[in-house]
Amino acid sequence: MNLDFIDNNLKEIEDKITAACSRCGRDRNEVTLIAISKTKPAAMIERCIGNGITFFGENKAQELMDKQSVIDGSSSLHWNFIGHLQRNKVKYIVGNVDLIHSVDSERLADSINEQSKKKNVISDVLIEVNVAMEESKFGVSCEEAPGLAQYMSTLSNIRLRGLMTIAPYVDNPEINRPLFAKLRKLLIDINSKNIDNVNMDVLSMGMTGDYEVAIEEGATMVRIGTGIFGERIYNI
Ligand SMILES: *Cc1c(COP(=O)(O)O)cnc(C)c1O
Repeated sequence: MNLDFIDNNLKEIEDKITAACSRCGRDRNEVTLIAISKTKPAAMIERCIGNGITFFGENKAQELMDKQSVIDGSSSLHWNFIGHLQRNKVKYIVGNVDLIHSVDSERLADSINEQSKKKNVISDVLIEVNVAMEESKFGVSCEEAPGLAQYMSTLSNIRLRGLMTIAPYVDNPEINRPLFAKLRKLLIDINSKNIDNVNMDVLSMGMTGDYEVAIEEGATMVRIGTGIFGERIYNI
């Protein structure tokens, strides 16, 4: 399969990220591009690596492990878990990823903490916030987030690094701008509470359809799948 399109897509995205950063006076280095490789084959990930990409995101434990086992130099990559995490899958994720983006309950935080103790690691995590309050989505409300941050601050083997949101699918990304601004404000609000051990600096927001707007509103991580790899095909 000819994978040249990946090179071209990555160049275009890199240009757009750089332009978005300069529009709002941010340094390009403040924004990390995470290639969301779910459903896509290892060969496509390797093509990204050839283009200098080192951050990848997956949303299923089994798929993540399968890819880690076949990709050369996988251990030097930064794997991110971005999907809804069931507690019985926590043991496969802890110790195998750099960052879990999707913590949305005390029970899940407890599981990650317990598993991290067992493996003698500290797990970096984000709180997933359902800013738009879409019924179909996981995540805590903006109102619940400070309480969960407070709770997580008491867990010895978890390090809360920031907040993540999945904005609604929209044709016009401007519609999501206020949601991104709200997540950023929430991060500042929680930081200002001076909770012990909580000083967050990660805002994971923005996907293929809206990452430029998200960067303008302060995203430090953008998660891009379709824009790099093309449409996903799910075999159900
Ligand atoms: C699939 C997915 C993405 C990537 O979405 P695209 O629109 O394909 O860029 C980003 N974040 C999460 C949490 C996802 O599940």
